[in-house]
Amino acid sequence: MSTGLPGYPGEPWSRGVRRGEDGVVEVAGVGVHDLAAEHGTPAYVLDEADFRARARAYRTAFETAFRAVGSDVDVYYAGKALLTVAVARWAREEGLRVDTASGGELAVALRAGVPGPEIGLHGNNKSDAEIGRALDEGVGRIIVDSLVEVERVARLAGERGVVAPVMVRVTTGVHAGGHEYISTAHEDQKFGLSIAAPRPTDGSAAGDSPAMTALLDVVARPELHLLGIHSHIGSQILDPSGFEVAARAVLELRAELAARTGVLVDEVDIGGGYGIAYLPGEVALDPERVAKDVAAAVDAVAADLGTPLPRFSIEPGRAIVGPAGLTLYTVGTVKPVTLDDGRVRTYVSVDGGMSDNIRPALYAAQYHAEVVGRASEAEPVLARVVGKHCESGDIVVHEVQLPGDVRAGDLLAVPATGAYGRSMASNYNLLTRPPVVAVRDGESRVLVRRETVEDLLALDEG
Ligand SMILES: *Cc1c(COP(=O)(O)O)cnc(C)c1O
Repeated sequence: MSTGLPGYPGEPWSRGVRRGEDGVVEVAGVGVHDLAAEHGTPAYVLDEADFRARARAYRTAFETAFRAVGSDVDVYYAGKALLTVAVARWAREEGLRVDTASGGELAVALRAGVPGPEIGLHGNNKSDAEIGRALDEGVGRIIVDSLVEVERVARLAGERGVVAPVMVRVTTGVHAGGHEYISTAHEDQKFGLSIAAPRPTDGSAAGDSPAMTALLDVVARPELHLLGIHSHIGSQILDPSGFEVAARAVLELRAELAARTGVLVDEVDIGGGYGIAYLPGEVALDPERVAKDVAAAVDAVAADLGTPLPRFSIEPGRAIVGPAGLTLYTVGTVKPVTLDDGRVRTYVSVDGGMSDNIRPALYAAQYHAEVVGRASEAEPVLARVVGKHCESGDIVVHEVQLPGDVRAGDLLAVPATGAYGRSMASNYNLLTRPPVVAVRDGESRVLVRRETVEDLLALDEG
């Protein structure tokens, strides 16, 4: 992918980031001091052009690779990574559809003007109200996750006199995340229906797999139209081979269903999870490479099976919005702490923390940070960036070199926080959640305003 403006420091920063000769960082032409003065800190800053470029890169790479093997692709932006009305519009303007996983996400996509047929609805425990709204809005696909839900969607569609378009989410045994994938037959997790047949303990023959049972159930119900089969193998995946193995398993299941029922489903979704760089020196998964590898793999499998290729879809979230965002904080206190081995770790406290980015506390996720409001000639020190919450695990960046003169009032930025930052934010300690500010061509605008204490008090009935 292209490398951004002259002066671009490289990944994990968004491509509109540059550091000027005075050491001050700007994003898409807006300096961090102006951003802080206008919007306050902490703030999520979203580089609109970077978001759009990544959306286009994924769409172009997958369309090119899959069309080359006689298939085609729809790209669904996974809204759970970050969904606001503007973000949904950007995705749509770049030719993406939108995946939602709750009634709230569905409402935002609809408010943005995304047409129902271009929206998908996920979730392992959708309510009647969520499914009903999806049916009333003519959502393009409801991804069912259990046998109970097959029955539930059929009932709600029947009540409305409509036919619900559904995909069945299956688990292929392929788990991925980080550099490697692992493959197991029986998965011990809540999502999807296993393609592995149960192993009876009484020695009787194995029955149908849960996935096949659900597919047969959908095919048999007139209130449901079986669009296809869905598989999502994990997150932050940096090795494309997991996608190939899972896609092969799904195509085999599709062929088996066709052999048994005569129904050859039109669509296969291979999910999201495309990994990004969080630290300098890390290399993101290249969409062109993964698209080519997966297209070649499915082409070979379809030839083996003697079935024509379906239409494919993918659901990137993090890879579109993660690198487009950074969080801007102000440093409040700096405290050197001497460790047992004699080293000194400098604790740098910022005005946010685990309420605006839970990922380090939740998954030990790694991030990078820099002082962005000025230049410094000071020797770097070993630092840990922490938040302001009453929790020693309230860490923003576990370990990073910061200038030795880092001090109260410094602006500090953490890159690659566009995905799963605001969307997983909380009000812990009754902090108010930061705004989402978009920057483009030298101008900033608020997409989601900062919460106020009045917002918090308004929910409290006293
Ligand atoms: C979370 C999720 C995604 C998006 O994952 P990313 O890692 O953000 O790309 C896509 N599809 C499904 C079903 C998901 O649960």
